[in-house]
Amino acid sequence: MKENNHSVVVIDDEESMRDSCRLILEKDGFLTETAEDGEKGLEKVKEMKPEIALVDLKMPGIGGLDVIEKIKEISPDTVPIVITGYATVESAVEAMKRGAYDFLPKPFTPEQLRVIIKRGLEKIKLFREAESLRKEKKLIEENFITMVSHQLRSPLVAIAQYFEVMLSGSVGEMSKEHKDMLSKARNRVESLLELINDWLDAARIDKGQLVEKFKQVSLHALLKKQIEFLQPVAEKNKINLEIEPPTGKSTIRGHEETLEQAFANLMNNAVKYNKPNGSVTISFREKDDCIITDIKDTGVGIEKKHIPQLFNQFFRVNRSEGKQGKGSGLGLSISKKIIDAHSGRIDVSSTPGKGSTFSVTLPKYKKTKE
Ligand code: ADP
Repeated sequence: MKENNHSVVVIDDEESMRDSCRLILEKDGFLTETAEDGEKGLEKVKEMKPEIALVDLKMPGIGGLDVIEKIKEISPDTVPIVITGYATVESAVEAMKRGAYDFLPKPFTPEQLRVIIKRGLEKIKLFREAESLRKEKKLIEENFITMVSHQLRSPLVAIAQYFEVMLSGSVGEMSKEHKDMLSKARNRVESLLELINDWLDAARIDKGQLVEKFKQVSLHALLKKQIEFLQPVAEKNKINLEIEPPTGKSTIRGHEETLEQAFANLMNNAVKYNKPNGSVTISFREKDDCIITDIKDTGVGIEKKHIPQLFNQFFRVNRSEGKQGKGSGLGLSISKKIIDAHSGRIDVSSTPGKGSTFSVTLPKYKKTKE
C-alpha cells in the first residue's frame, strides 16, 4: 500500500483492538504505531508527533482522559480521538472538555474508523490553513508598518525639516508670498505626518503583547500627569482643566503607556472641541468590579446620529469652517482599541451645543495568585 504521509498512534490495552486498527490503517497507507498503555503511548506520541492519536478511555495505569490532556501538552497539533466500549454522554463530554476531538464507540467497522480519521485529518488541514493565513496576514501587516514608517514617514520628516530651515530665513530672505506658500506646505506636511504617526500607533497595538506587560496602574496618577501635559494648550484656549480625586482606590491592571495614550486622546478632544472659557472635568465612579472615569467637557457636543460612527477609523464630524480643528480621525479608534485590549469599554453621552462626556469603564485591580 502506498504511504500517505500521515501517522497515527493507537493507545489501547486490548491487543485485538490494536491489531485491527493497525491492519486497517496500514492498509490505507498510514504510518501506524501502537501502545498497550498510556505511558508507552505518550512516549510514542512524543517521538512521532502523529497527526492522530486514538486513545482508549479505560486502561490500566494512566487513564485515557489524562492521556488526552498530556497529548495536548506534548504534541499540541495531534488530534486525539477517543475509542471506548462504554460511551456515555458524560464520558464523551468529559473527553471533549479535556481536548478530545471525536468519539468512536467500540465495536466499530473499518469504514467507521476511516470516516473518523478522515474527519480528524480535515480538522488538521483546516487548522494548518488558518495558521498559515494568520502568519501571512501578520507578515503583510509588519511589512506594511515598516514600509509606512521608513519609506513614507522618513522622507516627510526630512521635507518638514527643510521647510523649517527655509522659513527661519537662515538660507536667505524670501518674499511674503513665498513665505506664505511655504508655511502652507509645511502645515500640510505636518498634518500628513500626524496622520501617519496616528496610523502607526493604531497598527502597533497588539492585544496579546499588551496583556503580557500588564501591571498595577493608578488611574488618578495617570490622569493627573496627562492634565499637566495638557495645561499649556488648555490655558491658551482659556479652558479650565480639573480632576476630582477618587473616593476609593483607582487602581487597575493595565499597560501604562497605551492607557496614557488612550486617555490623552480623549482629553485632547475635550479641549480641542471645547469653547472659550469652557471646562473639562475628570471624575471617577465605581460600579460592580469596575472603575468608570468620566471625561466631561462643555464643548460643541456631538449630534446623536454621529455617535455610532465616532470610533470608526478616519471618521470626523463635518463641522463648519474654523470649528473642525486639525486631526486624523484616528484618535478615538485608537483609544477604543486600547481600552478593548484592557477588557473595558468607552461610552459617550452628548448634548449638541452643551458638551460631551466620554466614560471609560475598566475592571478594577484584583490580586491574582501568581
Ligand atoms: P480627530 O480628533 O483627529 O478628528 P478622533 O477620532 O479623536 O479624531 O475624533 C473623531 C471625531 O469625533 C472628531 O473629528 C470630532 O468631530 C468628534 N469628537 C471627538 N471627541 C469630541 C468631543 N469631546 N466633543 C465633540 N466632538 C468630539
